[in-house]
Order: sequence, then C-alpha cells, then structure tokens
Amino acid sequence: MHSGLNEFRSYKLESLSLDAAWLKQQTGQFALLFRLLLPMRRISSGRSVMTQRQKLVLPGGHNKLLLHSCCAPCSGEVMEALIASEIDFSIYFYNPNIHPQREYALRKDENIRFAEQQHGIPFIDADYGLDNWFARAQGMEDEPERGKRCTMCFDMRFERSALYAHEHGFPVISSSLGISRWKDMQQINDCGARAAAHYPGITYWDYDWRKQGGSARMIEISKRENFYQQEYCGCVYSLRDSNRWRKEQGRERIKICDKFYGQPEAQE
Ligand code: SF4
Repeated sequence: MHSGLNEFRSYKLESLSLDAAWLKQQTGQFALLFRLLLPMRRISSGRSVMTQRQKLVLPGGHNKLLLHSCCAPCSGEVMEALIASEIDFSIYFYNPNIHPQREYALRKDENIRFAEQQHGIPFIDADYGLDNWFARAQGMEDEPERGKRCTMCFDMRFERSALYAHEHGFPVISSSLGISRWKDMQQINDCGARAAAHYPGITYWDYDWRKQGGSARMIEISKRENFYQQEYCGCVYSLRDSNRWRKEQGRERIKICDKFYGQPEAQE
C-alpha cells in the first residue's frame, strides 16, 4: 500500500476523535463505512478512539508464550493484543523490585483479577524476593532511572522468566515492561535477549507494544478497568527520587495505593 495512504490512515486511527452522539446521528454510507472498517472503543473521558488491531505472530512459528508482567496497566493492552491474536500465553509475575509490600500486593492482585478472573489466563505468581533484589542493587542506590540499577532489575526479572520458560516448555518469552513510555526499550530488549540466550530453545520476542496505537489503548484499558495508577516505577529508590522531584515542583509526596485511573484527578 502507498506509504502516503498508510500515513493518512495512521493519522486517522491515532488522532481522529469522534463524538459518539454525533456518530449515532449520522446516516448513510459515511458513518456506516467507518463503523465497519474501524472498531471503536470508548474511553472514560467520553471521547472515542478509533483503533485497528493487527494480528500478532510469535517468532519462529511458535504459538506459546510466557509473558512477564510488571503490573496490570502495562500488561492490560498486551494481554488483549495476545488474546485477539489467539496466542496461547501465561502471565509470569516476578517483580521483587516493588516496594513497599502493600504496593507490591496491590499491583499483583490487580494483575490476577484482570488475567485470571476476567480473561481466564493462567497466572504464575513467582512470589516476592525483595532481599535478593536489594542484594543485587547494592552500590547502585544512587543510579538514575534507566541506568545500571535498572539494567540489573530487568536482568533479574528476565533471568527468572527465562528459567521458568525453560523448565516448563515455553519456547518464547516477552514482557509488558516495554510498553511504558518512561522505559528505555533498547535497554529492556538487551536484557530480555541476554536472559533467553542462556537457553538454546528459548527466544526473546522484542515486539514493540507501543506501536499500532498500543500506548493509547493502554491508557484506555486502564481507565475502563479503573486500574491502580502507580506514580513511581517500583523500587524504593524510584519512590525516593520521584518524591524528591515532586518536592522541587512544590507537589505533595506520593500517596501509596491511593490513585486509580478513571478518577477525575487521574492524569494520563
Ligand atoms: S527504577 Fe524501576 S526499573 Fe529501575 S531499578 Fe527501580 S524498579 Fe527497577
């Protein structure tokens, strides 16, 4: 297809916002054509986003995936994309970085609710392991986000994911970590590939979940599901640094387990 047409369609998909009431009033082929071609999803702000899902295919012709999940907001869109693509997958929740424990419990419980209870997706709870995480983070306490501590943190999570995949017959691993615009995609992909390289039969899938409207749908789903809206990456050092930054901005400290998507004050 001509690239200009692709760009035009992409612009339409990403930016066109139609009021549902207006759309209902439309008769004739124009509105009908839009409805047939493009599935419309509601977001809680009252606007609508036009999206079109691409059918995803795992590398190597496989159809079984172990998806490491960091939290419900990041994995919600990833899960829906995989379900729409009829890919057989299980969620692997191993996030020993998250501090404090009640933050960890909330992030995990929401993930279980969405995966297991709403979609029937197997959820593997790899438990906590905060002591191990602190042991590996020693000497990196003052590293900035996206620095060496984060490489260690991603390595640790992917290493356990790859080991589990190896022991339980998953030929492909991936993670929801990369969908966040705050993360360095290359850093995450390097860690994932490094972990998978320990096992000849395992491939790391470096699919860019932000593409094809993924970032917008991530927010859309989070609002629809009223997911907890975490305000720092996860570890105690990211909490400290986020609070330092907020203080500089004259903002109040982060309130743990307090903010949810879909609330009037929630920001994208
Ligand atoms: S900032 Fe996030 S990715 Fe980096 S070490 Fe902390 S929890 Fe891990």
